[in-house]
Amino acid sequence: MEKKQFQAESKRLLDMMINSIYSHREIFLRELISNASDAIDKIYYKALTDDALRFDQDSYYIKVAADKENRILTITDTGIGMTKEELESNLGTIAKSGSLAFKKENELKDGHDIIGQFGVGFYSAFMVADVVTVTSRALGSDVAYKWESTGADGYTIEPVEKDSVGTEIILKIKENTEDENYDEFLEDYRLRSIIKKYSDFIRYPIKMDTTRRRPKEDSENEYEEIHEEQTINSMVPIWRKNKNELTAEDYENFYNEKRYGFDKPIKHIHISADGAVRYNAILFIPEKIPFDYYTKEYEKGLELYSNGVLIMSKCADLLPDYYSFVKGMVDSEDLSLNISREILQHDRQLKLIAKNIKSKITSQLQSLLKDDREKYEEFYESFGRQLKYGVYSDFGANKDTLQDLLMFYSSKEKKLVTLDEYVSRMPEDQKYIYYASGETIERIDKMPQTELVAEKGYEILYFTDEIDEFAIKMIMSYKEKEFKSVSSGDLGIEAEENQENANSDENENKDLFAYMKETLSGKVKDVRASKRLRSHPVCLSTDGEVTIEMEKILNAMPNSQGVRAEKVLELNTNHEVFQALKDAFEKDKEKLNLYTNLLYHQALLIEGLPIGDPVEFTNDICKIMV
Ligand code: ADP
Ligand code: MG
Repeated sequence: MEKKQFQAESKRLLDMMINSIYSHREIFLRELISNASDAIDKIYYKALTDDALRFDQDSYYIKVAADKENRILTITDTGIGMTKEELESNLGTIAKSGSLAFKKENELKDGHDIIGQFGVGFYSAFMVADVVTVTSRALGSDVAYKWESTGADGYTIEPVEKDSVGTEIILKIKENTEDENYDEFLEDYRLRSIIKKYSDFIRYPIKMDTTRRRPKEDSENEYEEIHEEQTINSMVPIWRKNKNELTAEDYENFYNEKRYGFDKPIKHIHISADGAVRYNAILFIPEKIPFDYYTKEYEKGLELYSNGVLIMSKCADLLPDYYSFVKGMVDSEDLSLNISREILQHDRQLKLIAKNIKSKITSQLQSLLKDDREKYEEFYESFGRQLKYGVYSDFGANKDTLQDLLMFYSSKEKKLVTLDEYVSRMPEDQKYIYYASGETIERIDKMPQTELVAEKGYEILYFTDEIDEFAIKMIMSYKEKEFKSVSSGDLGIEAEENQENANSDENENKDLFAYMKETLSGKVKDVRASKRLRSHPVCLSTDGEVTIEMEKILNAMPNSQGVRAEKVLELNTNHEVFQALKDAFEKDKEKLNLYTNLLYHQALLIEGLPIGDPVEFTNDICKIMV
């Protein structure tokens, strides 16, 4: 018979499976059972929505049977089955498999861990078997097909007889090797414990034949063997169970089995709502950012079940964008099974559930922040940016929900702080919440603009994410305190001699400043005596709404409109350099031009802005040196 080859990617994955580390291998059973359960779901769903079919609870099950002598393990299901084409495309092509969400190059490299946490569907059978035989008859078909493969060298497919609709998977379990034992996958007790561990909540019975011994009647030391079929799983889906009966590990197993993520969730939220709308939900806050999270490819959504039957695998309407990182499922009796995507969007029940879920997530994040700061920071590290986008988007409509979940690095605390923490320790004379924007904490630490605010002893929030300033502009004020950039024209720190000094300096040097402004022809809005500089000779500040950081970000966007911040060149009149400027103004205008350009360029460099003509700048420095 003709041998067909697996697709290249499937082959690589197969190699990985076959060589996977031992401790992971038991999950093959979870994968095969989950496929069987999916297949029964499909026929169940059809039966519920198609009157021609009848769903008889008893005739739908999964069966696991081990034949020790022949080293054969069989997993049978009465699900929807596969046609010849489906066998080929589902089992011959890895790209078809929904489990390969991680087929990215880099992640395949440390595939071993992925297998440990996830498994990769059907192919995991090759971790324990030399030969895998799948016999399947699809619903509505009277022919069946047998698909067979030894892994690496492709598969064969041929017609066979099969009495009933469904699928039978036969694994020829590998021989033990010197350091690996495969026998255990033929031991009933071991199989039973694997099923209990991973597949307990499967909604259909997972049956096994068991044999037990009991004393013969009227006899004390003679025993007889009883053969019977036993259902191993409790069949209660985890979301219908009582929270008290569940351990953190149960939730983690569920998270892994469902492939919600590659990590361990930071937190689970189990909801059993019994009010205006009845539903059960299990939600997870992942620990790590999915590789495609901040890309367009990422799809948010929760699994949606109608009374135990999966009706949609990514229901986007259940989550606001700012919580798009949340994974999990919702099951409600109040939703119709036949509901279409379009109708669902306008469904009142669904809207209620979504609203409910949103506020649950908010309150759970709040309590995480309060009760387990370390974990919250871990979460914030991954998804804080998404929350900030949330504040910014929809014209700030969600800022009230989100502002107390935000954190920023504090100049004083040298760690992340909340807005509430900031405001609650503001000295009485402090009017504003001060922030400084820059690329990194280290760079902001060195910003000349922070000098006065820091000297006043005020705390400064460091904005290192592009979105930060935009988000804050949406919030505008927190607990009646407005936000103020340390680079803004008016810092709101008054009553100082500085102020007066600066004002008198301003008057005294009016002509010098006007001359310098002229020299910089249009590059700056103004040249002024600085109120904020202490040790640095020069810096840029801005008048108006657009700060320099915002200008940078806006101009990095694809179709930027050339937005410009209104820049002000500030000079430290107490610095030696200023004396040099004054002298030059009196005696040598040529020199003053040179100094002006130099200082302007320095200020640009400090801001991390490009200097128009680097060659001119270096030439200027050389002129001074000689
Ligand atoms: P996934 O379950 O994530 O889609 P798998 O590799 O586990 O990926 O399975 C691939 C596909 O093969 C399934 O999506 C399904 O269409 C089909 N399949 C696997 N096992 C069965 C089964 N027992 N009955 C019917 N179809 C199955
Ligand atoms: Mg699967």
